[in-house]
Amino acid sequence: MFERLMPKLRVNTVFDIALEELYARGYRGIITDLDNTLVGAKAPLATPELILWFKKVKELGFKLIIVSNNNMNRVSRFAVPLNIEYVHQARKPKSTPFLKAMKQMGLTPEQTIVVGDQMLTDIFGGNRLGLYTVLVLPISVKDEGIGTRINRRVERIALTRLRKQGLWHEEDKFK
Ligand SMILES: [Mg+2]
Repeated sequence: MFERLMPKLRVNTVFDIALEELYARGYRGIITDLDNTLVGAKAPLATPELILWFKKVKELGFKLIIVSNNNMNRVSRFAVPLNIEYVHQARKPKSTPFLKAMKQMGLTPEQTIVVGDQMLTDIFGGNRLGLYTVLVLPISVKDEGIGTRINRRVERIALTRLRKQGLWHEEDKFK
């Protein structure tokens, strides 16, 4: 069962995603998590580096939408100044928010990438719909709430199991 938590790709940060390569492979849209994927869970706004990354994403021809389990205040405060569309209180790993985001972008699962820092929400939800899932290292785990801390514990169990099954290769981790 833990195979469904395996991302297609692992990177350190969003900046390490080979956007040009994914575009060439036919991907046209990015569904991205917010907390601990784009910025720390307590950071209200985008960093200058991240703003440049959004610009690059757009210039390459990707659509981008934030899908977050966090509330409207948090997500809109981050996304509205950047003119980025978002789905808040998404309840990932449910399929509904991913389907909604793809509909808003006008894209199919085959054209869509999911980026997130949690295997149980972002990766599992994306994998179930056949999206291209990218796991990033969480930016800061110290401010995470109880729900996320429980998820992290399950993640560690899953990782142990996947390593035992030889599915999780350390050598190609976060290249
Ligand atoms: Mg997150």
